[in-house]
Amino acid sequence: MKQSIVIKGMIAAVYGAFFHVLSEENQILLAKPIGKLRVKKKETRHSICIGDEVEYRLNSQQDSTDIQAVITNVLPRKNFVGRSDLYKTQVLASNVDLVAVVLSLFHPTANFGFLDRVLAECEMRNIEAIIIINKYDLLKDKKISVLISDKYLDELNNRIKEYKQLKYEVLLTSFVEAISNKLYNKISGKTVLLTGLSGVGKSTFLNKFAGKKIQQVDEDIIKFKGRHITTNPVLYVSSDNTRLIDTPGLREFGLYHWTPLELQNGFVELHGIQCQFNDCLHVNAPNCGIKESKISQKRYDSYCSILNALKEKYKPRRGNSYR
Ligand code: GDP
Ligand code: ZN
Repeated sequence: MKQSIVIKGMIAAVYGAFFHVLSEENQILLAKPIGKLRVKKKETRHSICIGDEVEYRLNSQQDSTDIQAVITNVLPRKNFVGRSDLYKTQVLASNVDLVAVVLSLFHPTANFGFLDRVLAECEMRNIEAIIIINKYDLLKDKKISVLISDKYLDELNNRIKEYKQLKYEVLLTSFVEAISNKLYNKISGKTVLLTGLSGVGKSTFLNKFAGKKIQQVDEDIIKFKGRHITTNPVLYVSSDNTRLIDTPGLREFGLYHWTPLELQNGFVELHGIQCQFNDCLHVNAPNCGIKESKISQKRYDSYCSILNALKEKYKPRRGNSYR
């Protein structure tokens, strides 16, 4: 039998049992995994995720499915970003170089609870994150700026200062106007996961960034087999090889895949604090180092709010309790 050549590619979209593979020439191919892979991953079929590096061969069988490539192997992941609800974890993307968390100044107002969750996930996975606050042009819009209170702006500025002090880069943007060189240089050549609640401007960013450079995924292929999934992450690639992964329709960013004790690793301010007990959750244990730590009240509230949710899931064994 003729041996077909194995080629490397990257998963650009997941549609149930079908995938888009991005070739090294930046072509999108409709693909399915070989049977062996499907069996091995049966219950975790969706565990092949966007960003995964795969090996594939071109489909030589002319069948009616329009399958262009057959995935023969999934290579080990460098990293991944996940979120979860009480019952299951969704890997949003793998092999990510940078996570861009997008908030907006107004409509919707900046949601720092969401930001802290994404930052915690990135911190625990050791993936760089930047914070983008979009729609700053609205301050110049007389009709809208009167709706934005000075109190809110003061608070926002204080929070921005705080995140910068923590080491995070914060960019104030207006994607309807332009993408700054700073942002452009920051993402250039990387695989970037774009996260943010609906309405903050992620698609606007993608379109602006694209010009004509980005290869949009073929709508006909998305509609393959009648499925049109708008909440799945989608990867776009530009001619300078920047890969942007959008996560449309994101409403929640749960961290139930971490235990209460692990959560503190997601907050840089809590690294290395000294407590009497090494299983300290820094809530109300005696001789807890939290009193000496420099964490702000807002970030601490965020931490406690996530922690309370995790404690609901991970109940201590009978007779034990959390410190
Ligand atoms: P997504 O849900 O995060 O993808 O958000 P979209 O890109 O669809 O944007 C939601 C709405 O906000 C649209 O009406 C956009 O035109 C608007 N929008 C996006 N970016 C900006 C911006 O920088 N300034 C203003 N004024 N509006 C924006
Ligand atoms: Zn403590």
